[in-house]
Amino acid sequence: MKRVKAIGLALLLALTILGCGNKTVQNEQQTVKIAYLPITHSLAVLEEAKLLEENGDVEIELVKYGSWPELLDALNTGNVDGASILIELAMKSKAEGVGLKAVALGHRDGNVIVASNEITEEELAGKTIAIPHRQSSHYILVNDLLARNDLTVDDVHIVELAPTEMPSALAAGTIDAYCVAEPFGAMGVSIGAGHVLCESEELWKDSICCGLVLTDAFIEQRPEVAKTVVDTYKTAGSNLSRDEALSVAKENLNQTDEVLDLSLEWISFDDLEITEEMYAELADKVKKYGLLENPPTYEEFVKTEFE
Ligand code: ZN
Repeated sequence: MKRVKAIGLALLLALTILGCGNKTVQNEQQTVKIAYLPITHSLAVLEEAKLLEENGDVEIELVKYGSWPELLDALNTGNVDGASILIELAMKSKAEGVGLKAVALGHRDGNVIVASNEITEEELAGKTIAIPHRQSSHYILVNDLLARNDLTVDDVHIVELAPTEMPSALAAGTIDAYCVAEPFGAMGVSIGAGHVLCESEELWKDSICCGLVLTDAFIEQRPEVAKTVVDTYKTAGSNLSRDEALSVAKENLNQTDEVLDLSLEWISFDDLEITEEMYAELADKVKKYGLLENPPTYEEFVKTEFE
């Protein structure tokens, strides 16, 4: 009798532990950690988090970083399930063997090249131009602008600078021009430090800049959740009308209305599909301007189908 009781108790205990365990696993499975930087280029993930908060099944845990290298490290080490990130950084990680997939664009267009008020694009030779990172579409756009003026990066001084420092560096005359994720271009214009030399679509139609990138581990272990994340992300993009984008930006980015208003003139978020044509042009530029010798192929790196 005593033995039966003991077995019964042990069973009950085991079931209780299993039950609790399952509950924990289920909760973890429904939360997806997405890394982002507080910039207008990340508004689609911010909008998505808002949509999923209202909806229920899957929850986005937004993990904010202060710089691209820190964010990249979190993605590469699997500390997050995905990120809104400069696509070239993710391409380089993929080329180095990190399991990542780009599943959507971060935004469409949305970059400008800003220069000191007195400088025109024909006068860039010998000037100092800042970019956030060599693995970026900002570096590609600078190369494109120089090429349009029969110059190359060898004719100018390229410096890497933290995005937040660029407007004040331009105002102080430490740099002569820059290209960076928004709203820091708009900020330079807004404080009177510079003017827009050109918008990205003048140099590169259907440019790719940021992408939503997910880890292979997340996609493989939680395919249904990954599908929800990607589908909702695209819905979030089409939700981001100018008014909605402004409202999400005001809520999440510590910027003035004037800066956000100007910045949002240059960007859109509908149709965030990465097409083969777009990617082929990006891969060409990445090779041409020396960012990467062997960028991953579309098939290796881009995933658009989720079942
Ligand atoms: Zn971007």
